[in-house]
Amino acid sequence: MQTMSRRKLLRNGAQAVLAGSAALSGIPSLEAQGSAKSTPKAVDYYQKLGVTPFINAAGTYTVLSASTMPDEVRAAVELAARQPVNLNELLDASGAYLAKRLRCEAALVTAGAAAALVVGTAACVTMGNEQPILDIPTDMSRLKNEVIVQKGHRYGYDHALRNCGILFVEVETLEQYEQAFTERTVMAHFFNAGTGTISREDWVRVAHKHGVPCFNDAAADVPPISNLWNYTQMGFDLVTFSGGKGLRGPQCTGLLLGKKDLIEAARKNNSPNSNTVGRGMKVAKEEIVGLVAAVDWFLKQDDAAIEAQCRQRADRIAKHLNAIPTVQTQIFVPEVANHVPHLLITYDQNRVRITGAEVMQKMRAGKPRIELNPSTGGAPASAGLPGGPNTIVVGVWMLQPGEDLVVAKRLREVLQGAIAS
Ligand SMILES: *Cc1c(COP(=O)(O)O)cnc(C)c1O
Repeated sequence: MQTMSRRKLLRNGAQAVLAGSAALSGIPSLEAQGSAKSTPKAVDYYQKLGVTPFINAAGTYTVLSASTMPDEVRAAVELAARQPVNLNELLDASGAYLAKRLRCEAALVTAGAAAALVVGTAACVTMGNEQPILDIPTDMSRLKNEVIVQKGHRYGYDHALRNCGILFVEVETLEQYEQAFTERTVMAHFFNAGTGTISREDWVRVAHKHGVPCFNDAAADVPPISNLWNYTQMGFDLVTFSGGKGLRGPQCTGLLLGKKDLIEAARKNNSPNSNTVGRGMKVAKEEIVGLVAAVDWFLKQDDAAIEAQCRQRADRIAKHLNAIPTVQTQIFVPEVANHVPHLLITYDQNRVRITGAEVMQKMRAGKPRIELNPSTGGAPASAGLPGGPNTIVVGVWMLQPGEDLVVAKRLREVLQGAIAS
């Protein structure tokens, strides 16, 4: 192959020419491989397994598989799946690429934001102690392991940090925060969509005064797109975003962004290294490439366009419902997490005799199946979203083109069917 003359190469036909310089190095390019083999017909395993997909009028909820990947991300994953690579080389290269694009010192693709919380916390424990990697999380007695957090920032992801054998030290006021630092403090944790009196700026300033790194969990907090660098530039030493929510990468990915030394320490605590707290949170080549491609895709999007598209869908659905007695609609944008327009529908249950929970059930049972936002009929499903027994929340963000009309018609049918005569 290497000694093949240009003329001979040309005689070998379009195949070899297509493979280009890769063919000269002896390894056919992926495109050439693809065109050489006929692609097998894909089996629809959802159908084969009897699992029915749905129209996602909920949003990026984990149990609902969060989001779907745009075509160009899926295509990149498919290509990456075809050839073996060295995972450390891929982690190095993807980390450097992402850090540059996301304007921070260093970056790591993790197995989700929750995994980033684990290995990021492990990194802070690692920096504060000698040789702790093997000891995390069970042999912590000789290790510094205190993490300071605002009381209103304790949340459903505490366990990710606790996987590293840490102890939470809760504070409520800036004064308490100032006094909470001890010899054993390794990290100050901030939940970006949490409620508390201490600002992000104060959180960072005080932590740094004590030489302690601070972590911001912003998992669900794009858009705006600029959040991808806002918090690292504000001084947070570590920031995580979920890869499978707004970024629309593979669901089992996350971004850990931040300071070079901490990202290096996080990597030491992570797969592919055995005997680490992160070894079970493996990220595969397909996922690493998928998240890089998703970041490339996401940086080409536009906040105003995302917002306008969501409003247009919400308006279209609202218009279909405005003739139903007592129904009121409103567009609602949560302040921080899931910061996109949602459609809120309320009605008088004396006239429209159905609970939100029943509407949700009927939408789920219909054809096609439709999943409404889990705030529907009950408690808020994510930070800042309203809910209630007679409230329907339509998450329009993840709808595919045309699905807004399907949701609108079915909602009208269900609500109209419940009108008291
Ligand atoms: C979704 C979420 C996570 C977990 O993200 P994954 O990528 O699914 O691991 C962590 N923290 C917050 C605040 C989240 O919303």
